[in-house]
Amino acid sequence: MSYELTIEPLGQTIEIEDGQTILDAALRAGIYLPHACCHGLCATCKVQVVDGEVEHGQASSFALMDFERDEQKCLACCATAQSDLVIEADIEDDPDAENLPVRDFDGVVTRIETLTPTIKGVWIKLDEPAGIRFQAGQYVNLELPDGIGSRAFSIASAPSQAGDIELNIRIVPGGQGTGYVHERMKVGERTRVSGPYGRFFVKKSARVPVIFMAGGSGLSSPRSMILDLLGEGFELPITLVYGQRTREELYYHEEFLALAEAHPNFRYVPALSHEPEASDWRGFRGFVHEAAKSAFDNDFRGHKAYLCGPPLMIDACISTLMQGRLFERDIYTEKFLSAADAQQVRSPLFKAI
Ligand SMILES: Cc1cc2nc3c(=O)[nH]c(=O)nc-3n(C[C@H](O)[C@H](O)[C@H](O)COP(=O)(O)OP(=O)(O)OC[C@H]3O[C@@H](n4cnc5c(N)ncnc54)[C@H](O)[C@@H]3O)c2cc1C
Repeated sequence: MSYELTIEPLGQTIEIEDGQTILDAALRAGIYLPHACCHGLCATCKVQVVDGEVEHGQASSFALMDFERDEQKCLACCATAQSDLVIEADIEDDPDAENLPVRDFDGVVTRIETLTPTIKGVWIKLDEPAGIRFQAGQYVNLELPDGIGSRAFSIASAPSQAGDIELNIRIVPGGQGTGYVHERMKVGERTRVSGPYGRFFVKKSARVPVIFMAGGSGLSSPRSMILDLLGEGFELPITLVYGQRTREELYYHEEFLALAEAHPNFRYVPALSHEPEASDWRGFRGFVHEAAKSAFDNDFRGHKAYLCGPPLMIDACISTLMQGRLFERDIYTEKFLSAADAQQVRSPLFKAI
């Protein structure tokens, strides 16, 4: 059974299956509704129900209070339709968003490589020869067996290789999903991804130089974005400031050196924070934000910056960029929120101290 879901102010009517969330129906129809935790906890996806009945699902009472339920509001990430629906949502018009519909793709794991002691590269060949259309920087949900469910991973390869995607997966101690990938996933195994998800992509229409700042397993999106930009002949300066703790963790180092050699507009700034003093490392020693400050002489004006990595790195990079006179509106981040992180997200009324 299905219902009709009309999304205002777009005035677009789509189908919503019985039991399907409003968010899932919208994303699969190529309509982006703002969202973040996807577990009914952060309230980013709150929408107004103008007409019809919804079931609120697992919306928390912090994120959706009783008086808001009385005012016919709901959380799109967990509300399902009980009748035809009309909702009103904050639809932002982003000239760089392609609004690609989310779909499911079956495929096979063709290669698993150890990139660092904690990160595996996983290559998945999709059954559909055309593969998955995505914007560089977006992510997929990888379905894992044995009741583990799905986990989000950014696509590390370029959109031009849509039939054969690469994911870089860091093991989380005690993590079920990443533990499966690192310890049990095999070449030849059938798998499924859904996507593309996310709003992390280059604002190409701005036509300004670009800075990427990446650390830990946050390299995937920047790598895809850089390969995409260089592949299509983006001629403005592109800088990658890329930090790891030690040289053995600095994966794709040779690839970025070669890209910098081949493309005069691409600058590569690797930084190691914990490399032994005695090693032959001649690059920057210190954290990503320190390397960026030094590479740009503390002046980031006129750029757009894309940040991907652990929360502490992101916070330090934002402070450095703003001290170097880059406005917050020119800084974009991808947060690797997990279900457990989301548990800590309470009502916006409860500010973190
Ligand atoms: C948009 C998005 C893109 C992402 N892209 C990537 C990517 O490209 N590569 C990648 O390696 N990861 C990525 N992640 C993170 C990845 O989804 C999580 O690491 C993964 O869900 C953890 O799954 P798990 O089953 O191993 O851990 P779970 O079993 O779900 O969690 C186990 C424990 O680990 C903690 N935990 C979960 N995730 C993390 C984390 N990232 N860091 C520290 N502790 C954590 C939890 O709080 C929990 O206590 C991304 C996440 C998001 C939301």
